[in-house]
Amino acid sequence: MTERGDNFCYNAFTGLDVNQRGSLRPCCKFDLQSMPAFNISDGVGKYTNSKFIKRLQKQFLDNKRPDGCSRCWDDEDAGLESKRQIDYNNNKDFLDALELSKEGYSIVGIAFNNLCNLACRICGPWASSTWVAEERKGAILNWSSNEQTFVDLYENTKDAKLLEIVGGEPFLKNFDEHKEYLKLFVESGQAKDTHIHYVTNGTVFPDETFTNLWKEFEHVDITLSIDDTGKRFEYNRYPANWEEVYSNIKQFQKLSSEEQNIEISLSFTVSAFTIYYAGDFVDWCKAEGLPQPWFGVVSLRDYYHPSVHNDTIKQKIEDKLMLSDNVDVHKLKDFLYKDKSAMDIFNNGDSLFKGYIDRLDKKRGQLFSETFPELVA
Ligand code: SF4
Repeated sequence: MTERGDNFCYNAFTGLDVNQRGSLRPCCKFDLQSMPAFNISDGVGKYTNSKFIKRLQKQFLDNKRPDGCSRCWDDEDAGLESKRQIDYNNNKDFLDALELSKEGYSIVGIAFNNLCNLACRICGPWASSTWVAEERKGAILNWSSNEQTFVDLYENTKDAKLLEIVGGEPFLKNFDEHKEYLKLFVESGQAKDTHIHYVTNGTVFPDETFTNLWKEFEHVDITLSIDDTGKRFEYNRYPANWEEVYSNIKQFQKLSSEEQNIEISLSFTVSAFTIYYAGDFVDWCKAEGLPQPWFGVVSLRDYYHPSVHNDTIKQKIEDKLMLSDNVDVHKLKDFLYKDKSAMDIFNNGDSLFKGYIDRLDKKRGQLFSETFPELVA
């Protein structure tokens, strides 16, 4: 992919990801279990100058495939575009010109906290304060409210060319660190060379402070995590209200048509709940003038993986997917069979899946069989 070697990844040199806990790593796909723990509260410098990072960089310079990057190698071996390839292909111009010894980070992922107004089925307390409250498990995480930590983050990322901002929910009201961070980019003049990529749950339309700040940035790409409509959406994305989300989608569309540098996209999480309806959703997007969604399979909740369904339901799903006139939808059928981890761990994934949905259905006053009658044998 680059003259630096087929396995080379720039994220080991210029990528920094800060998650909801403040944990640091080269990118959001790097396996935290395979590296020493670094937290932003101890300073970014400790991570930057660590033996771990120096060793990782050397591995890439030697064209090796480091163990912590298994998600990229797995995707590539399966013929899918990996995070390292996507980042390189989208940022070739500045990456090819990058001096590897340059200080500071260019590709920066930030979850300022885990404050979120939803408790989506596929999520958990690590990324949502609503999950923390519901399960009475985990903690409210807000590392960016510490002034010294916030300044340290900015100082190490102030020349960033790409900011990937996720949540929690990044557009929640009364949360200032995110806006303050963007303001610093505008004041320094860096904003005009910086691209922001957001992931939002679509329940909050950003206020004017955001939309005014975004005008100063080179490009703003807002990904809405939406993978169904109506009652099924509300089941998956509890306690969201579909009518409100639909109205926000329309406002995002209007914003993007008015501002040349603002673009919207959709992210569809392929799960046991959504896979059957993927073709209908793609048709809906088309009818609404929305772009075709990006498909990614659920990663942290194995028991919601599409492969947990029993053979009868799998066949029904496959038949439905093949009715779509969209070839990307046809390809999703592979997810019904190929995720070994979900099937190996849960030999009877179907009954485990039912156990998990029953527990939450009781708590939330929802009913899987009523919301998804097509997925009941
Ligand atoms: S190879 Fe993949 S997982 Fe590893 S640092 Fe690069 S983007 Fe991240």
